[in-house]
Amino acid sequence: MLPKILSGREAADALLASLKPKVKKLNPKLVVVQVGDDPASSSYIKQKFKSCEAVGMRSEHIHLPENTTLATLMETVTKLNADADVTGFIVQVPLPGTLNDAVPQIVKAIDPKKDIDGFGAYNLGKMFLSTKFEHLPPATPGGIIILLEHYRIPVEGKHVVVVGRSNTVGKPIAVMLLNRDATVTVCHRHTKNLAEITRQADILIAAVGKAGLITGDMVKDGVVVIDVGMNKIERGKLPALVGDCDFDTVSAKASAITPVPGGVGPMTVASLIRNCIRAKERQIAGGK
Ligand code: NAD
Repeated sequence: MLPKILSGREAADALLASLKPKVKKLNPKLVVVQVGDDPASSSYIKQKFKSCEAVGMRSEHIHLPENTTLATLMETVTKLNADADVTGFIVQVPLPGTLNDAVPQIVKAIDPKKDIDGFGAYNLGKMFLSTKFEHLPPATPGGIIILLEHYRIPVEGKHVVVVGRSNTVGKPIAVMLLNRDATVTVCHRHTKNLAEITRQADILIAAVGKAGLITGDMVKDGVVVIDVGMNKIERGKLPALVGDCDFDTVSAKASAITPVPGGVGPMTVASLIRNCIRAKERQIAGGK
């Protein structure tokens, strides 16, 4: 049987439509700081602004040159923290050159109330407490949870195997699933016998960045697959975007699977928009 395709575009559109009235009422503003002209970043930023437009949210693009110094970037962060009209902002990563080494310092400088990417220690730490404290989760894990809920895929008591343990995807999604009573196994580059573990998954989340890492023989029949990976490959000399799963062999066994593109990507953007609205609500209520 063909698997159900978990369309992130459909789930994101539904979420964005439901957020419109709140945007109208609260009038939040989202700012994206970009340094340099990384083409992938420019394309992600375009999608973010498109979604802002779709919900009627105010947005601003602060585009700094490639040779921006850390001092200038930190000054920008300080100004955005202080600007009462700015609800939330993100500094688009990766940053050019050595500036990228300073990402932890930059993230630390962002006011937790405005940290709509949810990358800062305050918002990440709060997530450890319970679902009630997941106010500003990192956008991609937040989007995956919304996607699972949209398609009514229960996680309680399920064995979820997460492949990848980054601070922005693998680790926070593992915590969010634990908060929802899943049994979670996290694998990474040092995991031995990966296939033995992935074959036990009721739900498999692949967030690695390696095209075709997960093949059909590594999953069990009926598995639900969330493919976070975004890998540029050449297919017959034409560029193509693929996930971490070998779609043909994995989907032959899966009961449901996200496509790449059109799966987790749109959910990440929609979840960022939701975070900005949540940030505004909490700022009005006086909470962090
Ligand atoms: P990362 O490079 O920070 O982390 C990759 C993780 O994969 C690491 O924990 C590493 O230990 C693990 N890994 C590497 N090789 C492995 C192997 N052979 N077996 C098992 N684990 C292995 O990456 P990230 O930022 O978490 O992103 C992962 C992928 O997800 C990338 O393709 C990225 O582009 C994509 N991504 C997509 C979205 C989206 O919105 N769709 C958002 C964020 C990231």
